[in-house]
Amino acid sequence: MKDCLFCKIVKGDVSSYKVYEDENVYAFLDVANDVYGHTLVVPKKHYENLMDCPDRTLGKIMASVKKIGNHFVNDCGFEGYNTFNNNGKSAEQAIMHLHFHIYPRKTNDGIKISQDFGKQEKSLEEISKELYFEDEKTEKLDFSSYREECDVLYTDGACSGNPGKGGYGGVYLPKLNSNLECQEFSGGDDNTTNNRMELMAVIEGLKLIEDKEESGFKEKGEKVKVYSDSAYVVNAFNQNWLNNWKKNGWRSSGGGEVLNIDLWKELLSLTEKREVEFIKVKGHSDNALNNRCDALATSYYKE
Ligand SMILES: [Zn+2]
Repeated sequence: MKDCLFCKIVKGDVSSYKVYEDENVYAFLDVANDVYGHTLVVPKKHYENLMDCPDRTLGKIMASVKKIGNHFVNDCGFEGYNTFNNNGKSAEQAIMHLHFHIYPRKTNDGIKISQDFGKQEKSLEEISKELYFEDEKTEKLDFSSYREECDVLYTDGACSGNPGKGGYGGVYLPKLNSNLECQEFSGGDDNTTNNRMELMAVIEGLKLIEDKEESGFKEKGEKVKVYSDSAYVVNAFNQNWLNNWKKNGWRSSGGGEVLNIDLWKELLSLTEKREVEFIKVKGHSDNALNNRCDALATSYYKE
């Protein structure tokens, strides 16, 4: 943002006293210089405040806020710290670029953050009735009707540009009568391909199941069904491509080296430990689970 003071500070067009910097945030001393070490942590990318900051980005910003606060405690002789942030002009946000204040604190330092607001006339019960809400998204995500006699994975990969920034997502559905819960997983890579993300989705799903086995939450080596919309992944198993590649020293029928050997080898070793049935689903249609996986995968690069 052109006229934003904090954007100018991040770019170095306006000078500041830097405390810390990483790929996501820039942290500097508040010009007020009121409390010793009063630090402002701002995302390098311009967001007005929490209301328009994507969840995943916010997670990274908060991790940096914690890192800076912990540095004050671990390395600078403080015992604790306050963090706070204002969202919206009515909430006293002065600079409309998301920022978190950090006040390093010591016992009896004379700083008084908490203010006595008196008492509300309404009871807590009344207020909670007025304010209570449930997250609609979490409520709708009930996958239990998709569970089957064996463990099931739904997986998807996606890329913005090919190659480009990509993500993968999946849903693990434990077999019927299992005490385990359905579970989502996702991840991504800044420079990858669609096919690699499709492969990663299956690999991470099978690893998730393996982790549960290692921790004793389920029996080892049970069958898994994998639903994927990737012909590349499904056909490699169902049309014997993989076995042929292996036999030919990882050369394709055209003679060239097979792409993504690293991931194919990893996937192959995972599928050798159990029966894995691959089922091709139509992508981006009305399969709720496939759509959910797609949303998880694309969320990685949409932010
Ligand atoms: Zn800005």
